[in-house]
Amino acid sequence: MAFGTDRQMYDVDLSCAKCGAHISQLPFQPSGDRPVYCSECNRAFRQTRGGGMGNGGMSRPPRQMYSVNLTCAGCGAAITQLPFQPSGDKPVYCRDCMQARRNG
Ligand SMILES: [Zn+2]
Ligand SMILES: [Zn+2]
Repeated sequence: MAFGTDRQMYDVDLSCAKCGAHISQLPFQPSGDRPVYCSECNRAFRQTRGGGMGNGGMSRPPRQMYSVNLTCAGCGAAITQLPFQPSGDKPVYCRDCMQARRNG
């Protein structure tokens, strides 16, 4: 993690793809077919991606759910949705029972 000033910089004349700020130097040669971000936006990106445990990524598509009409093999609760397609020859458990089984 060296923040020296001897890092090679490329002189460019671009604008940040996010905030539009003028970019005059980049630590890498821009390829031209990729958006370029200013150092501020780059830092923001890194911070939002570094978390991981956040409140559910906004860019992540919702997990596909299958509508089913089953009962939990453990507690008998009605199951109307599953994150996978039930094969039919395996017992299906509700979320609570699934968690209990995983913990136990
Ligand atoms: Zn920016
Ligand atoms: Zn259950």
